[in-house]
Amino acid sequence: MPQGMREETDVVVVGARVAGSPAATELARHGRKVIVLDAGTFPSDTLSTHVIFPTCVAELNALGALEPLLATGSPKEPYVQINHGGVDVNWHYTAVDGFNYGMCPRRTVLDNILVETARAAGAEVREATKITGVEWKGGRVSAVTWSDRKGNTGTIDTKLLIGADGRRSTVAELVGAAKPYRRNENGRGLVFMYVDDPYPADSRERQTLFQWRVGDTLGMYFPTCDNGGLVLFMPPREQVAAFGQDMAHWNERLEEYPLLKARIAGGAPRTKIRKAADPFSYFRRSSGPGWALVGDAGHFKDPVIAQGVRDAVYYGRRLGLTAAAALDNPTWLDNRLYEWELKRDRECIVSYHFALRLSLTHPVSPVELEMWKKLEPNYDLSRELGDTFSRKQSAESLLSYPHLVHWTAKAFVNPAYPKMEVVTDVARELATKARLYRDLGRIARRKRVVGHSWDAWGGPMRVRPAEAEATPGEYVPAAVPQRSDLLAEEGEVRTSKAKVKESVA
Ligand SMILES: Cc1cc2nc3c(=O)[nH]c(=O)nc-3n(C[C@H](O)[C@H](O)[C@H](O)COP(=O)(O)OP(=O)(O)OC[C@H]3O[C@@H](n4cnc5c(N)ncnc54)[C@H](O)[C@@H]3O)c2cc1C
Repeated sequence: MPQGMREETDVVVVGARVAGSPAATELARHGRKVIVLDAGTFPSDTLSTHVIFPTCVAELNALGALEPLLATGSPKEPYVQINHGGVDVNWHYTAVDGFNYGMCPRRTVLDNILVETARAAGAEVREATKITGVEWKGGRVSAVTWSDRKGNTGTIDTKLLIGADGRRSTVAELVGAAKPYRRNENGRGLVFMYVDDPYPADSRERQTLFQWRVGDTLGMYFPTCDNGGLVLFMPPREQVAAFGQDMAHWNERLEEYPLLKARIAGGAPRTKIRKAADPFSYFRRSSGPGWALVGDAGHFKDPVIAQGVRDAVYYGRRLGLTAAAALDNPTWLDNRLYEWELKRDRECIVSYHFALRLSLTHPVSPVELEMWKKLEPNYDLSRELGDTFSRKQSAESLLSYPHLVHWTAKAFVNPAYPKMEVVTDVARELATKARLYRDLGRIARRKRVVGHSWDAWGGPMRVRPAEAEATPGEYVPAAVPQRSDLLAEEGEVRTSKAKVKESVA
């Protein structure tokens, strides 16, 4: 590529992993010219564990990436066994588009398949190439500058810039959206390692995700590709530093989990220990004139509920569909990006707070213990648990007031629990609900774009009269206030230090 070359495209996507490639795939499939830039090369790993549930499997299927994924031998995992506070629970899933299993494919494998899917759809994926700047015209992003590892540089004129470049998003920096308007500290950190799985490929154990909670720490085992397995501890994040590469602390902790130890007995370590102690949760402004942020670039939840990959693929695809249909008119495009962002926020906020709940590191509490006891003998309730993780139902219907009243009453009459613990438990849950309702209220108060159906993604779009008159391709300033609510919320958060530091602990 000659130095300083200038070229033109419909969309530039920065980041080619689980958010960027699905967005690029849908755009390319809908006839748009897409250039994807990624600083890395593929196949390659990234610091992430990688459990996915049936909705994500269904999304991968819709994208055309499931078949190649299954062909790698990454196991189907329809069973989940958990034990919190000594109570065994097997959860169940309602099938999503016919898929009733989760998976745990290595990111080296999954991300590479997504990159190849985008390429096959017609997107041009440029590896070892990073974004270095943006150009603006009439208040909109109009071009992107880049450089690659060989020292080449260039500029791409574009109608839309999508930032799918992860938590430390350069695109978010460049468009002025890097500072989250909602941020919460996670209670847990992650320490994990890959091992050889001692069980044969067709065994029930290779089709089961396991989780045990002892004291303040979660211990987990997930079968993954190449007859391997992922062993994961999620302790309070301040305990992460105690894990060294010499395995001494790891082995000490493993002793507390006899069933985990038995599950992996005979399986030699495949990798070093990997750690993450600081992945706080957040929402960033995720759309603006000629730009959008998807995946971790725009929003991150505590990994304890394993929803990041699903949300990256799900909202990546829908961003691609939304933009593909509206790209030729900047006003339509901005309005639809804004609606896409609102819908994502509205749908993700419940899971966001659900994750923060599970990130609390207190030992299993009385009300929670009563919940676990009720789950196992009740098929429907344990299915509700599976469907909550699969996002087939809201966490708020599992943790509904009738359920909570029932579990609290059980805990109150049980002489084994100190009454004060039950009261603390209820107060904590009510405080979480109050924070969730506050955030739902904030989202509901944001302006809507008139005449646009929530369900218009990918389908025929209803066009406002002002939009219908606009000449495609000509920039018409948006007729509705699009950013004021988000900015108001940002201003509100900025003025209150307490809110910026808002923590669930
Ligand atoms: C420790 C940990 C464990 C997790 N476990 C799970 C789990 O079990 N299940 C689950 O669903 N989710 C999990 N998550 C969340 C999940 O990893 C993320 O939600 C997901 O990786 C987001 O994907 P993404 O495509 O948005 O970003 P990323 O996967 O971070 O990809 C960003 C891409 O952008 C590229 N890039 C960055 N900057 C530039 C630049 N300037 N120019 C060009 N390219 C650039 C990078 O090279 C990278 O390829 C976990 C997260 C962490 C941190």
